[in-house]
Amino acid sequence: MPTPRVVESIADVRRAVHEARGAGRRIGFVPTMGALHEGHARLVETSVAETDFTVVSIFVNPTQFGPNEDYTRYPRTLATDLECCGGAGADLVFTPDLAMMYPRPRESMTFVEVPGLTTDFEGASRPTHFRGVTTVVLKLFAIVEPDVAFFGAKDYQQQLVIRRMVDDLNLPLVIRTVPTVREPDGLAKSSRNRYLSPEDRQAATVLSRALRAACEAVRAGERDPDRVRQILVKTIESDQRVSLDYAELADADTLERVRAWPVSGRVVGLLAARVGTTRLIDNAILTDESGCV
Ligand code: AMP
Repeated sequence: MPTPRVVESIADVRRAVHEARGAGRRIGFVPTMGALHEGHARLVETSVAETDFTVVSIFVNPTQFGPNEDYTRYPRTLATDLECCGGAGADLVFTPDLAMMYPRPRESMTFVEVPGLTTDFEGASRPTHFRGVTTVVLKLFAIVEPDVAFFGAKDYQQQLVIRRMVDDLNLPLVIRTVPTVREPDGLAKSSRNRYLSPEDRQAATVLSRALRAACEAVRAGERDPDRVRQILVKTIESDQRVSLDYAELADADTLERVRAWPVSGRVVGLLAARVGTTRLIDNAILTDESGCV
């Protein structure tokens, strides 16, 4: 298995990217927090297929975690992460430490905020989350200077927020969103799945089952958003191990909540729920004829 080159400093990334670009290669970039799984591998493989030089970053970003979230216990599995990157064909892995990314204390840091798209859903449940994401992603874009950056549809709101930031700030790159990779039983792959006990792991399938049921209802002609939403809520609440955070229908482009059908655009179903102590999210485009989950 080819091992990608691993660099820890910003200067080394810039040198490697500059060299690749000088040789006429297009640069693809996959930002991650490590604890890599097949979902991340799919992003890397897509970048390898669509660009000429793929950079993966592995950095557990503290600014996107709230005070009571799992920053310190977030899984760190660098050795297997590097194998995953190598197997998927990455050319360069950037593993900065905290001081490299954030040399100044949080009080005196520059943040970038996208006010639109970040108030509802994950933004409502995790108030400082998105400014942490957009800040670190903008920094990484400035370091790597990719032509194309790859994000997962699994974090649906996140990829929309990143797209908006790129558009608002005229950043010279393209954002590609890659479909969610799932376990055979439907559970969306996530670094946080490893927190689940065997019972919780079983219960966690309720998220994708809820989305599938909602999708099927829409495909069968259901056009009352409240009734579709109730399908999501009822399915999630059918399992006592799972406590619902939110289940909503939103315009897939603007994230405005859907109040009435007919809707002109596509509709996304967005879910967040706690299974045991683990918070999971999932989503699906409910109006896709090709089936959703
Ligand atoms: P993370 O390391 O969790 O910050 O995720 C890094 C990237 O991988 C993000 O763009 C995620 O949306 C994406 N990702 C995470 N899980 C999946 C999945 N199951 N399928 C596709 N992409 C994913």
